[in-house]
Amino acid sequence: ASARILSSGMRLPPLPSIRDLVKLYKLQAMKQLSQNFLMDERLTDKIVKSAGRIDHNDIVLEVGPGPGGITRSILRRQPQRLLLVEKDARFTETLQLLRECARPLDMEVEIYHEDILRFNIEQHVPDTTQRLHLIGNLPFAISTRLLINWFDDLSRRRGAFRRNDTCMTLTFQKEVAERICAQVGSEQRCRLSVMSQIWTEPVLKFIIPGKAFVPKPQVDVGVVKVIPLKRPKTELPFPLVERVVRHIFSMRQKYCRRGYSTLLPPEGREETTQALFQRADVKDTMRPFELSVAECLRLADAYADHLVAHPEVANYDYRAPKQALN
Ligand code: SAM
Repeated sequence: ASARILSSGMRLPPLPSIRDLVKLYKLQAMKQLSQNFLMDERLTDKIVKSAGRIDHNDIVLEVGPGPGGITRSILRRQPQRLLLVEKDARFTETLQLLRECARPLDMEVEIYHEDILRFNIEQHVPDTTQRLHLIGNLPFAISTRLLINWFDDLSRRRGAFRRNDTCMTLTFQKEVAERICAQVGSEQRCRLSVMSQIWTEPVLKFIIPGKAFVPKPQVDVGVVKVIPLKRPKTELPFPLVERVVRHIFSMRQKYCRRGYSTLLPPEGREETTQALFQRADVKDTMRPFELSVAECLRLADAYADHLVAHPEVANYDYRAPKQALN
């Protein structure tokens, strides 16, 4: 009953500070799990605020809650369910403390001692009547892999993305955050920019200086809100798009036809590449960073059409050692 609604949300019962908990439970950061903790409540509140409105009927999944700084900010927003997926079991006790605080406030906190890369969201959130938010101060070591996995899920409308309004509010190394959001022609434009912008609209919300974390990482950190597009820009299968975009960007400083041509076997490579660029209506002397998402997707369409007549090309790997001819 003493709970008051503040600008940052509901007030939680008094708790020891995160700093004190880390000391008390001797939770030294482990480098191999990319652990850098946020102790400043204003920053954790700001990250959660970037996720937008969280209703009492919503579900939040937090990746890597650690000692629970962002977790507290999420609880102040009062979701109905909060799933915490944390690989390091040392944090279980501090997270259980938060679960006890949340229970009388009509919030259900579930703690999963698991790897997010293996976590089965459909099993834990079987129906799709409630909106889901994905939030996390991600471990650098897995952030890009997790994002790409989630784009794959998004393209197949599975996992967290059976609804098209599941937003991701995530941290990345500043340079990676800038690459995700980089527009055509910018120096940071890369494979990750194009992949991100095919299925989502990524927005760089703000930068957190490295010194705000304990221990301090070598780099600053960017908070990105990744909003799924209501209509993705392609219906092509994810692995095909991923393959084409990867090849296009494999030779960054060269004309884009160079990387793209390595999708094709050596016999007739030049002519086929030229024909596919013509079909896609893309100038083959542009550099990869100058290509728009639409142009990359037209090149993917042209490659997909080519595979219909030449299905064996799908397995071609230009890096594989040349096969002996008998
Ligand atoms: N959320 C906390 C904060 O902001 O202070 C901790 C963030 S720390 C950068 C990343 C957290 O992710 C750590 O608690 C780490 O143990 C956890 N983690 C690392 N790899 C993970 C994985 N594969 N699955 C789930 N959690 C992981």
